[in-house]
Amino acid sequence: MRNLIYLIIIFSFACNQPVEKTPTTPYVMVLGIAQDAGYPQMNCKKGCCKQAWENPEFQITTSCLAIVDPMSKEQWIIDATPNIKNQLQLLKRKTGTEKIDGILLTHAHMGHYTGLMHFGREVMGTDNLPVFAMPKMKTFLEENGPWSQLVDLENINIKSIKSDSTFSLSARIKIKPFLVPHRDEFSETVGYEITINNKSLIFIPDIDKWGKWETNISDLIEEVDYAFLDATFYKNGELKRDMSEVPHPFVEESMEIFSALKEIDKQKVHFIHFNHTNPLLIEGSTAQKEVFEKGFNLAKEGQMIRF
Ligand SMILES: [Zn+2]
Ligand SMILES: [Zn+2]
Ligand SMILES: [Zn+2]
Repeated sequence: MRNLIYLIIIFSFACNQPVEKTPTTPYVMVLGIAQDAGYPQMNCKKGCCKQAWENPEFQITTSCLAIVDPMSKEQWIIDATPNIKNQLQLLKRKTGTEKIDGILLTHAHMGHYTGLMHFGREVMGTDNLPVFAMPKMKTFLEENGPWSQLVDLENINIKSIKSDSTFSLSARIKIKPFLVPHRDEFSETVGYEITINNKSLIFIPDIDKWGKWETNISDLIEEVDYAFLDATFYKNGELKRDMSEVPHPFVEESMEIFSALKEIDKQKVHFIHFNHTNPLLIEGSTAQKEVFEKGFNLAKEGQMIRF
């Protein structure tokens, strides 16, 4: 009798559990939010990285987005970061698989493409994994080792993409790369616009200053539904070196520029690509409070974006 009561209790609990419907619409998942070097940064002995050296729970991976199509059971990532193996495990915890169907690259700075090394014969030895790249990025990979070996051995298959030219990843997902000004030593730099269900998300992890771009960023934010934007540094003086050598829009500058936007448009802004010195990496920091008070958002590892 007692067993029967237990069974009834267990059964009624099971019935009351909310059944999480498997999403059918494609979605975007944030796999990483830090600048190229991740957080903490190698050799940093300062206060900014102290908590993360002492406690791995605070460690944060380099900026990366996944795009998932549950209908076709396909998934792609934007940028192959040095943290790719852990990021694909994070993706697997959501989708059940770490297998990816392609990679979209933004540019040839270390945080954005060096994860490709894991597709070579020393590790996965993939067969023609599609890698979407702009012309200079493509040439850079083809003509420089060790990346050229991935091309020669057909571990990766470079798909040429063009700025401002839209292509489909699946029947439900459209992608448009667009050029942005950045320190283009080895390749050009693009941001991406992802369109799903007539809604769109822009991802610009790296750009010099907003004023150097012919596109008006505020107008663009009004047009899209989500904007994941370069927030490498919070403010001027954050680095001891001359910060004009590594130009990025300071978050303080961006918030000033975006202050004229309506509240609903400000909410679309999700800052991402934080340098180890950026106080936005610290939970509960004054900087974080300021961003939220002004109506903006911060990207978070594991965050799901619905369309
Ligand atoms: Zn970067
Ligand atoms: Zn640091
Ligand atoms: Zn860069």
